[in-house]
Amino acid sequence: MSDSKRTLEFHLAEPDIGPLELEYVTQAVRSGWVSSIGEFIGRFEKGIADLCEVNHAVAVSNGTVALHLTLVSLGIGPGDEVIVPSLTFAATAAAVIHAGATPVFVDSESDTYNMDPQAVEAAMTNRTKAIIPVHLYGHPADMDAMRRIVRGRNCIVIEDAAEAHGALYHRKKVGSIGKAGTFSFYGNKLLTTGEGGAVVTNDGKLAKRLRFLKDHAMDPKRRYWHPEIGFNFRMTNIQAALGCAQLERFNSLIEKRQQLIDSYREKFSDLPVRINPSEEWAKPAPWLTTMLLPKGCKADELSKMLREIGIDSRPFFVPLDTMPPYNNFRRMSSSGEAGCPVAYDLYERGIILPTIPSAQNNRLITRVYDITAKYLNRK
Ligand SMILES: *Cc1c(COP(=O)(O)O)cnc(C)c1O
Repeated sequence: MSDSKRTLEFHLAEPDIGPLELEYVTQAVRSGWVSSIGEFIGRFEKGIADLCEVNHAVAVSNGTVALHLTLVSLGIGPGDEVIVPSLTFAATAAAVIHAGATPVFVDSESDTYNMDPQAVEAAMTNRTKAIIPVHLYGHPADMDAMRRIVRGRNCIVIEDAAEAHGALYHRKKVGSIGKAGTFSFYGNKLLTTGEGGAVVTNDGKLAKRLRFLKDHAMDPKRRYWHPEIGFNFRMTNIQAALGCAQLERFNSLIEKRQQLIDSYREKFSDLPVRINPSEEWAKPAPWLTTMLLPKGCKADELSKMLREIGIDSRPFFVPLDTMPPYNNFRRMSSSGEAGCPVAYDLYERGIILPTIPSAQNNRLITRVYDITAKYLNRK
């Protein structure tokens, strides 16, 4: 363990694993079905489909390949452009590149931190075959605007819902609105299978193709006959067992986190900061606690002060178009200029706060509040 880790009193996030998880995982291991066949896989897929109110869920090994597989299954590849936000986890854009397509980065809007529809519109060309809104930090993107942009064009919407399990856009579950939605079940996500992911869709033909390609593209009727080159993107039964337990406990997992985020919001209401955005048309998923500092402040300065008293924090995602592997691709602001100024600004001022519900909630929030107030006073 590093020194900095040992001295931290409050960590950023950790999975909530209970006796039910242990019971199901033990059952999966004891059954001998430890690879990707077994009772928990189908059960987990059904549970995810139900949670998202869609017809099909296809479990895969992680959230990155969920995106990769979706793009390939839809025939998106070399020569095609795919619009992604600059402010997202690198996997959103990496998956586009792995599929052989070209990412185009667009700016964020400052209210929800999500992909700005105006910037998307400005970035569209006749080579744009997909746009991938990300429901960043659990807050749904403006899906009506996204759908309006692609209407009448040969272009689809894929939702990257990796951070937004169970969130609502108006009355619709995120993931169910585009052609397909993808999820991650990594250890720090709202619902975990250790590593894992899923693609959800209402399109039966797409679901079939996802299943075919994720499992070596083997002909379902002829063993070891592979009419195409496939992938091994399968989830294991052990992972699915963990996921089934998490799904049964999902409401309580969400509730505890929501309470913590609400308490942060209440406590910080007299400071000029914004805790998680929440538009009236949305029910965000309570993934992590985000705090946006006022103009002129720097998240990394506050972060250092928090660390000194044993509180962990994280910066927002680094805008992808500023990093070497990504900075040669096209990038677009809402005014149609090259660059993503809103994303750069959010990155400077945005900080992620510890979001592990516990009996220490009040102590945590009070300590973060005191340090934040002190930081703002100095500015
Ligand atoms: C976590 C995450 C992913 C990737 O998920 P993995 O399971 O880690 O591969 C993709 N997109 C976003 C926005 C994420 O937060």
